[in-house]
Amino acid sequence: MNEENIDFETGTSFYNPHMRLCRSISSLAVGAIEKEIEICDGFSSTGIRGIRYAKENPNVSKTSFVEFDESAAELCRRNILSNSIKGEVFEEDFNRHLMGHSYDLVELDPFGSPAPYSYFAVRSFRRMKSGFISATATDTAILCGAHSAACLKAYHARPLHNEICHEAGARILLRHFANLASEFDFGIFPLFTLSHRHFFKAFIRLEKGAAKAVENEKKSGFIIFCPKCGHMQASPIPAPKCPKCRGEAEWGGPLWLGNLHSQEHIRKMAALNQERDYADKAKISSLLSLMEKEDSFPPYYFEVHRTCKRLGLPNPKPIAGIISCLEKKGHSAMRTHFSPTAIRTDAPVSALKKAVPK
Ligand SMILES: [Zn+2]
Repeated sequence: MNEENIDFETGTSFYNPHMRLCRSISSLAVGAIEKEIEICDGFSSTGIRGIRYAKENPNVSKTSFVEFDESAAELCRRNILSNSIKGEVFEEDFNRHLMGHSYDLVELDPFGSPAPYSYFAVRSFRRMKSGFISATATDTAILCGAHSAACLKAYHARPLHNEICHEAGARILLRHFANLASEFDFGIFPLFTLSHRHFFKAFIRLEKGAAKAVENEKKSGFIIFCPKCGHMQASPIPAPKCPKCRGEAEWGGPLWLGNLHSQEHIRKMAALNQERDYADKAKISSLLSLMEKEDSFPPYYFEVHRTCKRLGLPNPKPIAGIISCLEKKGHSAMRTHFSPTAIRTDAPVSALKKAVPK
């Protein structure tokens, strides 16, 4: 197999080629950390993620690979040897491993939800002043509200099951880590948060401090969504009624209402992306340029077709035209990385309605 000029064996181990973009963008985030780091690649399987982190980034001093399955661990050993990686393979349970080891960065990329492993990942930083967690969640159906009870059970939050479910789901995932971080006196600072295909990726910096941990709580809240008039708002408390039209509202949370990304880190990642020759270079560049600006808007977006249908408006004109109309009226607006057919804006739904021609 070959991924970004790295040859490796897959054998019977799990390797998902569709996660190449996720591995590339995460490797950029690793490379943008301006210090030497030791990494733990949990659920390493073939080891491709950790091998890429180590080969592509000179600031990675050592990588440990944790893989429970005996034959996968043996394959991973061969792959790190053939790629001349400075690292070690631990053939044991991930949680058990983190009870006795600590790293600067923990990669948490299990099958499905990271929730059963996140406690020990956060706990592993308990004696450190800072650290990084890079977590992948492929249980997006749960985080996006297809199974509301499952989300309550795994993440202790009520999901939204509508057109903003991807952003709400990513924010539920971040809040899950914020909660755990608070218990160990860490504040969380997302470096980037990505929703793509069937996964969410949260790359988070943890910083020690009781005051920072308290800030986590202040950045948690709810998103209220009115299916009747299209009004949305962030709120410290849930609301069963729409504050605008008094119709039945949907609400999701508690979820993370703080920033999804660090603008500074995203800029460094974008610069690194230009230096590298990734197969997904153009796609990554476009995602990063959207992500860089997203946090200057409210924590939701308008899915244009669904919003127009809801408001009884005809099929809308191109998104660029609606953005331009909103800007002419003095509002800010942009696309969002969460959906190619959505607009992020500081304008209320009434202004969006006026921007769509009748
Ligand atoms: Zn309403």
